[in-house]
Amino acid sequence: MTPVFANSAWISTRERFILRNGVWRKRWLKVRYGVFVHPDAGPVLIDTGYTVHSVQGPGRSRWLRAYGRAFAPKLNDDAQPQPFLSRFGLAPRDITTVIVTHFHADHVSGLSEFPNAQFMCSRAAWASLQRNGNFQNIRHGVFAELLPDDFATRLTPVEDRPRQGVQHLPDGYDLFGDGSVLSVPLPGHAAGHFGLLFPQLKEPLLYATDTQWVIDALPRAARPCLMPRLLSDDYDAMRRSTDHVQAFRNSGGRVMLCHDDAPSLFDVEEGAYL
Ligand SMILES: [Zn+2]
Repeated sequence: MTPVFANSAWISTRERFILRNGVWRKRWLKVRYGVFVHPDAGPVLIDTGYTVHSVQGPGRSRWLRAYGRAFAPKLNDDAQPQPFLSRFGLAPRDITTVIVTHFHADHVSGLSEFPNAQFMCSRAAWASLQRNGNFQNIRHGVFAELLPDDFATRLTPVEDRPRQGVQHLPDGYDLFGDGSVLSVPLPGHAAGHFGLLFPQLKEPLLYATDTQWVIDALPRAARPCLMPRLLSDDYDAMRRSTDHVQAFRNSGGRVMLCHDDAPSLFDVEEGAYL
């Protein structure tokens, strides 16, 4: 059971913001989301990437429209959920579960496209979204308007799954009860942010989501300071999470990130298959 990732959109930033000692040149980053087919649970999506709902759709709040203008993602039409899933003979209605790693708009934008899916997210992320007022959520890039109205009734907190120890990483949660996919808490970037570990692959894969923007920024000496200080939910926790991810990588594990612009073996553009 191997995950495959698509690049929903391109976003640009200055390299200096995402890499210490980076230059001021513009760098285009990916916005990945993924899919895998679990033998019992069926087709499972990992986040949704950017979709029209957050950047072009009608009926958006003025805050979401302003957010869309500020980040100006360039959507990849061919890699939106419907065409991406159709490559594997799947449609959005076939998705049984969407794993929501955190509530930033570029991860939840398309949730309303999956009418039959249950949602798995962290209890901490959901509690934070509910506790925060509109302004605080928006300040953190969270737009509750992107969630389906019945989100709460379709929600399973990952913390309700069996806990499992993992080398080099915080204890994870066994999402399907067979050890094939663990959610691994990587707090700091956003409330309740987590990654996904696929420990049964020939070379274990950690999808570390947004722990950093690019792989090159994992070593301590290469990590940016300004952007994480401004944008992180908890800067110190983000640094500790990056230490964990780097330790996992140093031990021989493979690490992927949502926004890294380097190609990955698991990208559909690179020929990965389910
Ligand atoms: Zn994020």
